[in-house]
Amino acid sequence: MEYTKIAGLDKKVTRVALGTWAIGGWMWGGTDEAESIRTIHAALDKGVNIIDTAPVYGFGRSEEIVGKAVAQYGQRDKLALATKTGLEWNTEANQVRRNSSAKRIRKEIDDSLKRLQTDYIDIYQVHWPDPLVPFEEVGETLTELKQEGKILAIGVSNYTPQQMDAFTARAELAVCQPPYNIFERGIETDILPYCRKKGIATLTYGALCRGLLSGRMSRDRKFEGDDLRNVDPKFKQPRFDQYLDAVSRLQAFAKDNYGKGILPFAVRFVLGKGASVALWGGRRPGDMDPVSDIFGWKLGDSDMAEIDKILKETISDSVGPEFMAPPAREKS
Ligand code: NAP
Repeated sequence: MEYTKIAGLDKKVTRVALGTWAIGGWMWGGTDEAESIRTIHAALDKGVNIIDTAPVYGFGRSEEIVGKAVAQYGQRDKLALATKTGLEWNTEANQVRRNSSAKRIRKEIDDSLKRLQTDYIDIYQVHWPDPLVPFEEVGETLTELKQEGKILAIGVSNYTPQQMDAFTARAELAVCQPPYNIFERGIETDILPYCRKKGIATLTYGALCRGLLSGRMSRDRKFEGDDLRNVDPKFKQPRFDQYLDAVSRLQAFAKDNYGKGILPFAVRFVLGKGASVALWGGRRPGDMDPVSDIFGWKLGDSDMAEIDKILKETISDSVGPEFMAPPAREKS
Protein backbone atom coordinates (compact mmCIF):
# COMPACT_ATOMS: atom_id res chain seq x y z
CA MET A 1 0.00 0.00 0.00
CA GLU A 2 1.16 3.58 -0.63
CA TYR A 3 0.09 6.50 1.55
CA THR A 4 -0.03 10.26 1.20
CA LYS A 5 -0.59 13.23 3.48
CA ILE A 6 -3.50 15.64 3.26
CA ALA A 7 -3.09 18.94 5.12
CA GLY A 8 -5.39 19.07 8.14
CA LEU A 9 -5.64 15.28 8.67
CA ASP A 10 -3.59 13.63 11.38
CA LYS A 11 -3.50 10.30 9.57
CA LYS A 12 -1.89 9.33 6.28
CA VAL A 13 -4.42 8.25 3.67
CA THR A 14 -4.09 5.40 1.19
CA ARG A 15 -3.40 6.38 -2.41
CA VAL A 16 -6.55 4.59 -3.53
CA ALA A 17 -9.99 5.55 -2.25
CA LEU A 18 -13.36 3.84 -2.53
CA GLY A 19 -15.87 5.96 -4.46
CA THR A 20 -19.51 5.39 -3.52
CA TRP A 21 -21.53 7.13 -6.22
CA ALA A 22 -22.82 3.79 -7.58
CA ILE A 23 -23.65 2.72 -4.01
CA GLY A 24 -26.20 5.57 -3.94
CA GLY A 25 -27.99 3.94 -6.89
CA TRP A 26 -28.95 7.16 -8.71
CA MET A 27 -27.53 7.19 -12.28
CA TRP A 28 -26.20 3.65 -11.74
CA GLY A 29 -29.43 1.66 -12.11
CA GLY A 30 -30.21 1.20 -8.40
CA THR A 31 -28.47 -0.09 -5.30
CA ASP A 32 -28.51 -3.01 -2.87
CA GLU A 33 -27.82 -1.93 0.70
CA ALA A 34 -26.46 -5.21 2.08
CA GLU A 35 -24.17 -5.70 -0.93
CA SER A 36 -23.01 -2.08 -0.65
CA ILE A 37 -22.15 -2.45 3.03
CA ARG A 38 -20.20 -5.61 2.24
CA THR A 39 -18.35 -3.68 -0.50
CA ILE A 40 -17.34 -0.93 1.95
CA HIS A 41 -16.22 -3.49 4.55
CA ALA A 42 -14.23 -5.38 1.91
CA ALA A 43 -12.42 -2.16 0.93
CA LEU A 44 -11.60 -1.44 4.59
CA ASP A 45 -10.41 -5.04 5.07
CA LYS A 46 -8.05 -4.46 2.13
CA GLY A 47 -6.54 -1.54 4.03
CA VAL A 48 -8.17 1.31 2.05
CA ASN A 49 -8.76 4.09 4.60
CA ILE A 50 -10.49 6.80 2.58
CA ILE A 51 -14.09 6.73 1.35
CA ASP A 52 -15.58 9.36 -0.94
CA THR A 53 -19.30 10.08 -1.05
CA ALA A 54 -21.68 13.01 -1.66
CA PRO A 55 -25.18 14.05 -0.55
CA VAL A 56 -26.39 13.97 -4.16
CA TYR A 57 -25.41 10.29 -4.66
CA GLY A 58 -28.84 8.76 -4.33
CA PHE A 59 -30.06 11.96 -2.62
CA GLY A 60 -28.66 10.96 0.74
CA ARG A 61 -28.64 7.19 0.18
CA SER A 62 -24.89 6.80 -0.40
CA GLU A 63 -24.02 8.83 2.71
CA GLU A 64 -26.53 6.83 4.78
CA ILE A 65 -25.07 3.52 3.62
CA VAL A 66 -21.49 4.73 4.23
CA GLY A 67 -22.57 5.91 7.71
CA LYS A 68 -24.11 2.51 8.53
CA ALA A 69 -21.15 0.57 7.15
CA VAL A 70 -18.61 2.61 9.12
CA ALA A 71 -20.68 2.44 12.34
CA GLN A 72 -20.83 -1.36 12.01
CA TYR A 73 -17.13 -1.68 11.18
CA GLY A 74 -15.87 0.67 13.90
CA GLN A 75 -12.48 2.42 13.81
CA ARG A 76 -13.99 5.71 12.59
CA ASP A 77 -10.89 7.57 13.77
CA LYS A 78 -8.66 5.49 11.48
CA LEU A 79 -10.69 6.44 8.39
CA ALA A 80 -10.94 9.58 6.30
CA LEU A 81 -14.51 10.32 5.20
CA ALA A 82 -14.72 12.65 2.21
CA THR A 83 -18.06 14.13 1.22
CA LYS A 84 -19.28 17.13 -0.77
CA THR A 85 -21.60 20.09 -0.78
CA GLY A 86 -23.10 22.64 -3.13
CA LEU A 87 -25.67 20.71 -5.16
CA GLU A 88 -29.43 20.86 -4.57
CA TRP A 89 -32.03 18.54 -6.00
CA ASN A 90 -35.70 18.25 -6.78
CA THR A 91 -36.44 14.55 -7.12
CA GLU A 92 -39.96 15.12 -8.50
CA ALA A 93 -38.62 17.21 -11.37
CA ASN A 94 -35.57 14.90 -11.60
CA GLN A 95 -33.41 17.99 -11.41
CA VAL A 96 -30.00 18.65 -9.82
CA ARG A 97 -28.53 22.16 -9.75
CA ARG A 98 -25.50 23.90 -8.31
CA ASN A 99 -25.98 25.92 -5.15
CA SER A 100 -22.98 27.05 -3.10
CA SER A 101 -24.85 29.66 -1.06
CA ALA A 102 -23.89 29.75 2.62
CA LYS A 103 -27.50 28.81 3.50
CA ARG A 104 -27.39 25.66 1.36
CA ILE A 105 -23.93 24.60 2.57
CA ARG A 106 -24.92 25.09 6.22
CA LYS A 107 -27.98 22.88 5.74
CA GLU A 108 -25.99 20.24 3.88
CA ILE A 109 -23.22 19.91 6.44
CA ASP A 110 -25.70 19.11 9.21
CA ASP A 111 -27.57 16.62 7.00
CA SER A 112 -24.29 14.93 6.02
CA LEU A 113 -23.06 14.65 9.60
CA LYS A 114 -26.35 12.99 10.54
CA ARG A 115 -26.36 10.54 7.63
CA LEU A 116 -22.71 9.66 8.11
CA GLN A 117 -23.31 9.18 11.88
CA THR A 118 -20.30 11.29 12.77
CA ASP A 119 -19.51 14.66 14.33
CA TYR A 120 -16.80 15.70 11.86
CA ILE A 121 -16.01 15.23 8.18
CA ASP A 122 -12.39 14.73 7.23
CA ILE A 123 -12.52 16.20 3.72
CA TYR A 124 -15.39 18.53 2.72
CA GLN A 125 -15.47 19.40 -0.97
CA VAL A 126 -17.54 21.86 -2.99
CA HIS A 127 -18.93 19.49 -5.63
CA TRP A 128 -19.22 21.87 -8.64
CA PRO A 129 -18.40 25.59 -9.07
CA ASP A 130 -21.52 27.75 -8.73
CA PRO A 131 -21.27 30.84 -10.97
CA LEU A 132 -23.89 32.66 -8.89
CA VAL A 133 -21.85 32.80 -5.67
CA PRO A 134 -18.41 34.48 -5.55
CA PHE A 135 -15.76 31.80 -4.94
CA GLU A 136 -14.25 33.90 -2.12
CA GLU A 137 -17.58 33.71 -0.27
CA VAL A 138 -17.76 29.94 -0.70
CA GLY A 139 -14.20 29.68 0.66
CA GLU A 140 -15.23 31.75 3.65
CA THR A 141 -18.22 29.49 4.43
CA LEU A 142 -16.00 26.39 4.43
CA THR A 143 -13.38 28.18 6.56
CA GLU A 144 -16.11 28.87 9.13
CA LEU A 145 -17.11 25.18 9.17
CA LYS A 146 -13.48 24.26 9.75
CA GLN A 147 -13.19 26.76 12.60
CA GLU A 148 -16.34 25.25 14.12
CA GLY A 149 -14.68 21.80 14.04
CA LYS A 150 -17.26 20.30 11.66
CA ILE A 151 -14.67 19.62 8.94
CA LEU A 152 -10.91 18.98 9.02
CA ALA A 153 -9.80 19.70 5.46
CA ILE A 154 -11.32 21.90 2.76
CA GLY A 155 -11.68 20.70 -0.83
CA VAL A 156 -13.17 21.68 -4.17
CA SER A 157 -14.18 19.54 -7.11
CA ASN A 158 -14.39 20.40 -10.81
CA TYR A 159 -12.92 23.87 -10.17
CA THR A 160 -10.50 25.55 -12.60
CA PRO A 161 -7.20 27.04 -11.33
CA GLN A 162 -8.74 30.54 -11.66
CA GLN A 163 -11.69 29.52 -9.51
CA MET A 164 -9.30 27.98 -6.96
CA ASP A 165 -7.30 31.23 -6.92
CA ALA A 166 -10.42 33.17 -5.93
CA PHE A 167 -11.55 30.52 -3.44
CA THR A 168 -8.17 30.46 -1.66
CA ALA A 169 -8.39 34.19 -0.93
CA ARG A 170 -10.47 33.13 2.09
CA ALA A 171 -9.78 29.42 2.56
CA GLU A 172 -6.88 27.05 3.00
CA LEU A 173 -7.45 24.58 0.22
CA ALA A 174 -6.16 21.07 0.99
CA VAL A 175 -7.82 18.97 -1.74
CA CYS A 176 -8.92 19.27 -5.36
CA GLN A 177 -11.11 16.55 -6.91
CA PRO A 178 -11.01 16.59 -10.74
CA PRO A 179 -11.77 13.81 -13.27
CA TYR A 180 -8.74 11.84 -14.46
CA ASN A 181 -8.02 8.56 -16.18
CA ILE A 182 -6.15 7.21 -19.22
CA PHE A 183 -8.89 8.52 -21.53
CA GLU A 184 -9.74 11.80 -19.76
CA ARG A 185 -6.52 13.75 -19.50
CA GLY A 186 -7.64 17.40 -19.43
CA ILE A 187 -6.07 18.14 -16.03
CA GLU A 188 -2.52 17.36 -17.17
CA THR A 189 -2.04 20.82 -18.62
CA ASP A 190 -3.50 22.98 -15.87
CA ILE A 191 -4.95 21.45 -12.68
CA LEU A 192 -2.22 18.89 -11.95
CA PRO A 193 0.67 21.38 -12.26
CA TYR A 194 -1.32 24.03 -10.37
CA CYS A 195 -2.05 21.69 -7.45
CA ARG A 196 1.51 20.41 -7.37
CA LYS A 197 2.83 23.98 -7.18
CA LYS A 198 0.37 25.01 -4.46
CA GLY A 199 0.71 21.83 -2.37
CA ILE A 200 -2.96 20.87 -2.89
CA ALA A 201 -3.62 17.12 -2.81
CA THR A 202 -5.41 15.73 -5.88
CA LEU A 203 -8.12 13.17 -5.20
CA THR A 204 -8.88 12.33 -8.81
CA TYR A 205 -12.14 10.62 -9.81
CA GLY A 206 -13.18 8.09 -12.44
CA ALA A 207 -9.91 6.08 -12.57
CA LEU A 208 -11.72 3.32 -14.48
CA CYS A 209 -13.56 5.72 -16.79
CA ARG A 210 -16.94 4.48 -15.53
CA GLY A 211 -15.94 0.86 -15.92
CA LEU A 212 -14.40 1.09 -19.41
CA LEU A 213 -10.97 0.37 -17.92
CA SER A 214 -12.18 -2.31 -15.51
CA GLY A 215 -11.68 -5.41 -17.66
CA ARG A 216 -15.43 -6.14 -17.33
CA MET A 217 -16.66 -4.02 -20.25
CA SER A 218 -17.82 -5.44 -23.56
CA ARG A 219 -19.68 -4.10 -26.60
CA ASP A 220 -22.87 -6.06 -25.75
CA ARG A 221 -23.00 -4.95 -22.11
CA LYS A 222 -26.50 -3.65 -21.22
CA PHE A 223 -26.92 -0.89 -18.66
CA GLU A 224 -29.95 -1.06 -16.37
CA GLY A 225 -32.48 1.74 -15.76
CA ASP A 226 -30.99 5.18 -15.23
CA ASP A 227 -27.36 3.99 -15.57
CA LEU A 228 -25.43 7.04 -16.82
CA ARG A 229 -23.60 4.95 -19.37
CA ASN A 230 -26.85 4.92 -21.40
CA VAL A 231 -26.16 8.62 -22.10
CA ASP A 232 -22.36 8.70 -21.81
CA PRO A 233 -21.04 9.70 -25.27
CA LYS A 234 -18.07 7.31 -24.87
CA PHE A 235 -20.48 4.38 -24.79
CA LYS A 236 -22.23 5.37 -28.07
CA GLN A 237 -21.29 3.64 -31.29
CA PRO A 238 -19.19 3.96 -33.38
CA ARG A 239 -17.08 5.68 -30.69
CA PHE A 240 -17.61 2.89 -28.11
CA ASP A 241 -15.79 0.40 -30.39
CA GLN A 242 -12.82 2.75 -30.66
CA TYR A 243 -12.51 2.93 -26.86
CA LEU A 244 -12.92 -0.85 -26.57
CA ASP A 245 -10.14 -1.34 -29.15
CA ALA A 246 -7.90 0.94 -27.07
CA VAL A 247 -8.77 -1.09 -23.96
CA SER A 248 -7.81 -4.39 -25.69
CA ARG A 249 -4.46 -2.96 -26.79
CA LEU A 250 -3.77 -1.50 -23.34
CA GLN A 251 -4.81 -4.79 -21.76
CA ALA A 252 -2.31 -6.73 -23.90
CA PHE A 253 0.42 -4.19 -23.12
CA ALA A 254 -0.22 -4.42 -19.35
CA LYS A 255 -0.19 -8.22 -19.42
CA ASP A 256 2.87 -8.62 -21.67
CA ASN A 257 5.01 -6.07 -19.83
CA TYR A 258 3.88 -6.29 -16.22
CA GLY A 259 1.68 -9.39 -15.93
CA LYS A 260 -1.11 -7.08 -14.70
CA GLY A 261 -4.77 -6.66 -15.59
CA ILE A 262 -6.14 -3.48 -17.14
CA LEU A 263 -7.68 -2.26 -13.87
CA PRO A 264 -4.44 -2.07 -11.82
CA PHE A 265 -2.70 -0.72 -14.92
CA ALA A 266 -5.26 2.10 -15.25
CA VAL A 267 -5.00 3.03 -11.56
CA ARG A 268 -1.18 2.85 -11.68
CA PHE A 269 -1.32 5.28 -14.62
CA VAL A 270 -3.25 7.84 -12.58
CA LEU A 271 -0.85 7.54 -9.62
CA GLY A 272 2.21 7.58 -11.91
CA LYS A 273 1.11 10.86 -13.47
CA GLY A 274 1.10 12.47 -10.02
CA ALA A 275 -2.43 12.20 -8.63
CA SER A 276 -2.17 12.02 -4.83
CA VAL A 277 -5.09 9.58 -4.51
CA ALA A 278 -7.02 7.69 -7.22
CA LEU A 279 -10.72 7.32 -6.53
CA TRP A 280 -12.29 4.19 -7.90
CA GLY A 281 -15.94 3.39 -7.67
CA GLY A 282 -17.18 0.01 -6.48
CA ARG A 283 -20.46 -1.60 -5.50
CA ARG A 284 -19.65 -5.31 -5.26
CA PRO A 285 -17.56 -6.84 -2.46
CA GLY A 286 -14.95 -8.11 -4.96
CA ASP A 287 -14.56 -4.74 -6.71
CA MET A 288 -11.65 -3.64 -4.53
CA ASP A 289 -9.83 -7.01 -4.73
CA PRO A 290 -7.30 -5.69 -7.31
CA VAL A 291 -5.96 -3.19 -4.72
CA SER A 292 -3.09 -5.52 -3.92
CA ASP A 293 -2.02 -5.51 -7.61
CA ILE A 294 -1.55 -1.73 -7.74
CA PHE A 295 1.43 -1.29 -5.46
CA GLY A 296 5.07 -2.34 -5.70
CA TRP A 297 5.58 -1.44 -9.37
CA LYS A 298 5.53 1.69 -11.52
CA LEU A 299 5.05 2.83 -15.09
CA GLY A 300 8.03 4.51 -16.74
CA ASP A 301 8.26 7.25 -19.38
CA SER A 302 8.40 4.74 -22.24
CA ASP A 303 5.18 3.10 -20.94
CA MET A 304 3.47 6.49 -20.84
CA ALA A 305 4.62 7.11 -24.43
CA GLU A 306 3.26 3.72 -25.52
CA ILE A 307 -0.10 4.48 -23.89
CA ASP A 308 -0.30 7.75 -25.84
CA LYS A 309 0.60 5.90 -29.06
CA ILE A 310 -2.13 3.29 -28.50
CA LEU A 311 -4.72 6.02 -27.89
CA LYS A 312 -3.64 7.89 -31.01
CA GLU A 313 -3.92 4.76 -33.15
CA THR A 314 -7.31 3.64 -31.86
CA ILE A 315 -9.41 6.67 -30.91
CA SER A 316 -10.15 9.20 -33.66
CA ASP A 317 -13.27 10.66 -32.06
CA SER A 318 -12.38 11.25 -28.41
CA VAL A 319 -14.76 12.93 -25.99
CA GLY A 320 -14.40 14.09 -22.38
CA PRO A 321 -16.49 13.68 -19.20
CA GLU A 322 -18.31 17.03 -19.64
CA PHE A 323 -21.72 15.36 -20.05
CA MET A 324 -21.76 14.81 -16.27
CA ALA A 325 -21.74 18.52 -15.34
CA PRO A 326 -24.97 19.60 -13.58
CA PRO A 327 -26.54 22.93 -14.63
CA ALA A 328 -26.29 26.16 -12.68
CA ARG A 329 -29.41 27.78 -11.16
CA GLU A 330 -31.09 30.52 -13.15
CA LYS A 331 -30.44 34.06 -11.98
CA SER A 332 -33.47 35.40 -10.15
P1 NAP B 1 -15.00 4.62 -12.03
O1 NAP B 1 -14.24 4.45 -10.80
O2 NAP B 1 -14.29 5.05 -13.23
O3 NAP B 1 -15.78 3.27 -12.40
C1 NAP B 1 -16.55 2.60 -11.46
C2 NAP B 1 -17.21 1.40 -12.07
O4 NAP B 1 -16.26 0.47 -12.56
C3 NAP B 1 -17.97 0.59 -11.03
O5 NAP B 1 -19.22 1.13 -10.71
C4 NAP B 1 -18.06 -0.77 -11.69
O6 NAP B 1 -19.06 -0.71 -12.70
C5 NAP B 1 -16.70 -0.87 -12.35
N1 NAP B 1 -15.75 -1.58 -11.48
C6 NAP B 1 -15.23 -1.18 -10.31
N2 NAP B 1 -14.40 -2.10 -9.80
C7 NAP B 1 -14.39 -3.11 -10.67
C8 NAP B 1 -13.71 -4.38 -10.72
N3 NAP B 1 -12.89 -4.78 -9.75
N4 NAP B 1 -13.90 -5.15 -11.78
C9 NAP B 1 -14.71 -4.76 -12.76
N5 NAP B 1 -15.39 -3.58 -12.79
C10 NAP B 1 -15.23 -2.78 -11.75
O7 NAP B 1 -16.21 5.59 -11.88
P2 NAP B 1 -16.93 6.45 -10.84
O8 NAP B 1 -17.63 5.60 -9.81
O9 NAP B 1 -17.73 7.39 -11.64
O10 NAP B 1 -15.85 7.32 -10.14
C11 NAP B 1 -15.27 6.93 -8.93
C12 NAP B 1 -15.76 7.79 -7.80
O11 NAP B 1 -15.34 9.14 -8.00
C13 NAP B 1 -17.28 7.90 -7.60
O12 NAP B 1 -17.83 6.78 -6.96
C14 NAP B 1 -17.35 9.16 -6.79
O13 NAP B 1 -17.01 8.90 -5.43
C15 NAP B 1 -16.28 10.03 -7.46
N6 NAP B 1 -16.81 10.91 -8.53
C16 NAP B 1 -16.80 12.24 -8.30
C17 NAP B 1 -17.31 13.12 -9.24
C18 NAP B 1 -17.27 14.61 -8.95
O14 NAP B 1 -17.89 15.39 -9.67
N7 NAP B 1 -16.56 15.02 -7.94
C19 NAP B 1 -17.83 12.64 -10.45
C20 NAP B 1 -17.80 11.28 -10.68
C21 NAP B 1 -17.29 10.41 -9.72
P3 NAP B 1 -20.23 -1.81 -12.78
O15 NAP B 1 -20.65 -2.05 -11.36
O16 NAP B 1 -21.30 -1.20 -13.58
O17 NAP B 1 -19.62 -2.99 -13.43
